[in-house]
Amino acid sequence: MDLGISGKKAIVCAGSKGLGRGCAGKLAEAGVEIILNARGAEALEKAAAEIAAATGVKVTPVAADITTPEGREKVLAAAGAVDILVNNAGGPPPGVWSDWNRDDFIKALDGNMLAPIAMMQAVMPGMIERGWGRVVNITSAAVRAPIAQLGLSNTARTGLTGFVAGTSRQVAGKGVVINNLLPGIHATDRAVSLDSAVAKAQGISIEEAEAKRAASIPAGRYGTPEEFGAACAFLCSQYAGFIVGQNLMLDGGAANISI
Ligand code: NAP
Repeated sequence: MDLGISGKKAIVCAGSKGLGRGCAGKLAEAGVEIILNARGAEALEKAAAEIAAATGVKVTPVAADITTPEGREKVLAAAGAVDILVNNAGGPPPGVWSDWNRDDFIKALDGNMLAPIAMMQAVMPGMIERGWGRVVNITSAAVRAPIAQLGLSNTARTGLTGFVAGTSRQVAGKGVVINNLLPGIHATDRAVSLDSAVAKAQGISIEEAEAKRAASIPAGRYGTPEEFGAACAFLCSQYAGFIVGQNLMLDGGAANISI
């Protein structure tokens, strides 16, 4: 299927690995030029070179911490005018409700709420002027089905979701479409670190922890960055113009939510 976005330009934040990388790969397959961001330059340059070699599109790596104003400036300066923005960053650590102080909350809000909001505020005026834009925020299934030990993530990501709910309806008439993708468990480094913690706590192997988690998902497996990226590319396509302000769960049916 031709997504109708060949020749457009996208910023993909936090995209050297995992879900961000999956999104960058599928947008590049659709012919979209990519400004690829992550902090670590080595993995970033490798990912950029691999995506460019596989798809033939231009991929510009920009090593920067997207949760800081300086990092965002660097990415935005390298990108110039863009048509597509994929917001993403690392997730906050797990814990117990009484663990976290003000600084912990500010860090989580900076990373998973205020950084994506700042990126939207930076690129959307240009999208509105040109009459076309797509924004996908990578949030978490925890927004609709909160995970007890991810209190910082639940808090910051629902804040972002609230902002998007109103903003998406203010810009839809200008050709700019914003949606959120809510990953359940996917086979990435983040999943390995979550499963390692479970394995340690329960005195089992990582493979056993993975198998237990997979068995609890109706689909019987983890999601892949490629299928996540394909959903993202569709939400960035010409055909997604009537999908406004939605929160799409990609969780293999894990959350028992019918509507
Ligand atoms: P991942 O495999 O650990 O990859 C994270 C990517 O983000 C890496 O490229 C990393 O590169 C980059 N990154 C992290 N912090 C950054 C920052 N401050 N600035 C720029 N780049 C940054 O993680 P993932 O599984 O793809 O998860 C992506 C997001 O989805 C996270 O917020 C995660 O909490 C959320 N999520 C994931 C799952 C899952 O099952 N995988 C489920 C629910 C929610 P550098 O470290 O080099 O910067």
